[in-house]
Amino acid sequence: MANEVLYSKAIPVTHEADVFVAGGGPAGVAAAVYAARMGKKVYLVEASGSFGGAATTMLIPAFMQFSSDDIFLAEGIGREVHTYLKTKAPECYSRYCPNSIPVEILKLCYDEMMTESGASFSFFTSVLDVIVRDGKIDAVICSSKQGIFAVKAKMYIDCTGDGDLSYLAGAECRKGDDETGEMMAATLCALWEGTDFSRATQPQRAFLEDAFRDNVFTNIDRHLPGMWRIKDGVTGSNVGHIYDVDGTDSDSMTSAMVASRKQLREYRKYYREYLDGYENMELVISAQQIGIRESRRVMGEYVMTLDDFRNRASFDDEIGRYCYNIDIHSGKNTDEGYQKFAKDHETFRYAAGESYGIPYRMLVVRGFDNLLAAGRCVSTDRYMQSSLRVMPGCYITGQAAGAAAAIASEVGCAARDIDVARLQKQLKSMGAYLPNCED
Ligand SMILES: Cc1cc2nc3c(=O)[nH]c(=O)nc-3n(C[C@H](O)[C@H](O)[C@H](O)COP(=O)(O)OP(=O)(O)OC[C@H]3O[C@@H](n4cnc5c(N)ncnc54)[C@H](O)[C@@H]3O)c2cc1C
Repeated sequence: MANEVLYSKAIPVTHEADVFVAGGGPAGVAAAVYAARMGKKVYLVEASGSFGGAATTMLIPAFMQFSSDDIFLAEGIGREVHTYLKTKAPECYSRYCPNSIPVEILKLCYDEMMTESGASFSFFTSVLDVIVRDGKIDAVICSSKQGIFAVKAKMYIDCTGDGDLSYLAGAECRKGDDETGEMMAATLCALWEGTDFSRATQPQRAFLEDAFRDNVFTNIDRHLPGMWRIKDGVTGSNVGHIYDVDGTDSDSMTSAMVASRKQLREYRKYYREYLDGYENMELVISAQQIGIRESRRVMGEYVMTLDDFRNRASFDDEIGRYCYNIDIHSGKNTDEGYQKFAKDHETFRYAAGESYGIPYRMLVVRGFDNLLAAGRCVSTDRYMQSSLRVMPGCYITGQAAGAAAAIASEVGCAARDIDVARLQKQLKSMGAYLPNCED
């Protein structure tokens, strides 16, 4: 081919492990901590400089629900994180926002959990490529300041959010709408100071139409997730959409970063000039990365669909249950797109106490013996991804993947062949909500 170079080089294998985890977001931390606590040698690489994934690199201001009514669905790692934050940052938990994220405390929480678990990890290190032989990953190639190196493990878990490891291994991935490829809009989240919650206008969208009429915004966008109270005077924003962003394309991400920083100025004007309580609000910091709600979904041995949500599905190989509503932000800034988002949001939601089951098979990447995928990139259609992608859901799939990888590496079998009853027993011993599994 015309414009190519051939690059070939012998590189060292610097790490050998029972379980390798790519990505240190909620799914990756849950997977690594769980496998390490089961006595396995674990190595995790994380591209950024902290654990937490979107919550820390994209400054997501709040967790979605951990519970359905009084049933705590994210038992296990999710419960531990929840308890840690409530204990160390009680000022962040109030009737305004029961699950807001004190981001520096969350980073410490994950540092401690990972260190205490005995798992090894490297920040500023990315998965660059994968060597596969006969449906089995032989090694992953990583890159860091030291250069390129290889890691060999018995089991591999993809928790990169974007499904990078699986994609590089050649697994079947889908992106966005199956017909149009449309993906949910992205949002640059940020932290602000100077808000007075005692006077804050609710709902925050109350004067959007006035602001549209006054040309405050370059784009007329009626989605407005809003500002969350993190603690007195400190707010986390999830406002403004950037459309047609592909989180797996750095050129697309580059333009989105520039556009979204500019757009934040427009929201600053709206909040300060149209709403009470925000007159003195000032931007402290915007996230280092625009928030990506949707990119690749890695196809597993089961693909969860909207029917599973509708049916409150139960499965023999269930590894947990979750409940967040269907939440597909429109990928196009049109009235039709916004109306569909709003309608789905209202139609597909559960009553208190309801939940859907999550089958183990969906974590097993189709066509591979030793690869699991957990977190945002799990094997679903778009509808189910929009529910299960939130952080409590990622703890559930992450910890199950970690436990399954630990079992498979110990027994020496393929991920699809593990004793599911043993996996369920293991998860139950940590409190996982598995009402349909016998003890
Ligand atoms: C704007 C926005 C608002 C949201 N609001 C909420 C909310 O209110 N509540 C809620 O619970 N959830 C919310 N979410 C969803 C949630 O934050 C994410 O879906 C969730 O964090 C996904 O977890 P994860 O572990 O799968 O991936 P991530 O959190 O994305 O973590 C993946 C990690 O992998 C690393 N990584 C990526 N590629 C590589 C690679 N090749 N090599 C090494 N490391 C790599 C990344 O640096 C990252 O740290 C929101 C998301 C967005 C974008």
